[in-house]
Amino acid sequence: MNPSLTAAQRQRLEQALRHEHDELSARRKAYLGGLTRAEHAREVLLQDGDDAPQRASDREIDMQRVEEDVARLADIDAALQRIAEGRYGICGDCGEDIPAKRLDVAPHARYCINCEAQRERGHKPAASL
Ligand SMILES: [Zn+2]
Repeated sequence: MNPSLTAAQRQRLEQALRHEHDELSARRKAYLGGLTRAEHAREVLLQDGDDAPQRASDREIDMQRVEEDVARLADIDAALQRIAEGRYGICGDCGEDIPAKRLDVAPHARYCINCEAQRERGHKPAASL
């Protein structure tokens, strides 16, 4: 566990992660339920499908949103897993502590800001760092 985090900080971050996890799960469930109803309504009401392109693009935006939520949920699950394993708050690349300030902004952060920036540029840091 990141020794620069106090127990209270860690607890607060864990709560934030769980809260976000619950919200995303609920939203996803609501969306999937709504989709089923909407699909059914379309089958009943829009048999001729003359607005199909519009519906397709709406659907695309929805799917993108769901995919973002799913990716976020995976990040949060991974962070909760790291808490359970005592590896939370430690950069997955360089092994340095991730500063509490960064975790406050992004509780699910897996990498320190330097490694994250390197990843965004498409370079993996050397394993020996
Ligand atoms: Zn790092």
